[in-house]
Amino acid sequence: MMDETERKAHQNMPPVICYPVHMLPAPDLMSLSRFRTENVEKSGEILVPPRDARCFEVPQGGFFRITSIDGPQVGDLNLWHKDNRQEKFYSGKTRALHGTHLSIGNQMWSSFPYLRPMATIVADTLSWYGIDPHGGSVHDVIGTRCDPYTHHVLSDGQHYHHCCHSNLTRAVSAYFDISPATAEDIVHDVLNVFMCTGFTRDTAQYFMKASPVRPGDYLELYAEIDLIGGLSACPGGDCSSEHSSDVAQCYPLLVEVFSPKEFADYSEWRNPCPNGYDQSHGL
Ligand SMILES: [Zn+2]
Repeated sequence: MMDETERKAHQNMPPVICYPVHMLPAPDLMSLSRFRTENVEKSGEILVPPRDARCFEVPQGGFFRITSIDGPQVGDLNLWHKDNRQEKFYSGKTRALHGTHLSIGNQMWSSFPYLRPMATIVADTLSWYGIDPHGGSVHDVIGTRCDPYTHHVLSDGQHYHHCCHSNLTRAVSAYFDISPATAEDIVHDVLNVFMCTGFTRDTAQYFMKASPVRPGDYLELYAEIDLIGGLSACPGGDCSSEHSSDVAQCYPLLVEVFSPKEFADYSEWRNPCPNGYDQSHGL
């Protein structure tokens, strides 16, 4: 049993950053800003209905912008490599690298064994929010996605079908023309776009509060590789009270895609390669 002095000494040890990100190549935001101005043009848009999800394609070198349009609404974002759905967004490692909430210059990393940037955040109209007095911030990679299984456990056996997990499952099934079971298998933990969340200081529990998002706010990302995105307009609406129900006021979200022009110049740009680890694992 540790005595009080020893306990305090341990608790007062300074934290050590697990992954010093100064070792990561910093995204070249100047070039990305130039690409956005000179290299791309709007190629499409899709409206994600409330309590539902849609998939969309963004070619490498393109951009996509998620905008709040009719009212405060949070979105749950999934990403896959267009030609290999096993390479998908890895929220846990992204969190370990960049912290609990993402903003401009942070990247969305892909799953093992690929582990490379899939997308880079280039614009965020909510970056002013910072970290609030409760430790909350926006665009988290700590919540997983609202889902009917957790709801079933917490609601004494209810079946709710419009959680982000189910919305994404339906959208992925329709988009890739695969069975719902296969689709459910590749739906993964999300980037919670516009959601305001944190962990309580006293009990370290996941909390949410009303998102500061307003119509016109947007998050914009650069596609480092060919992407398929999936976005759900969460049944929690602005997530000020509850999710996993039809109680909250919900609004659509707009996704706009900007694709490279025919003769766009990316000559100085290096696309991220799949991770270089040899995968021998000491064998
Ligand atoms: Zn949700």
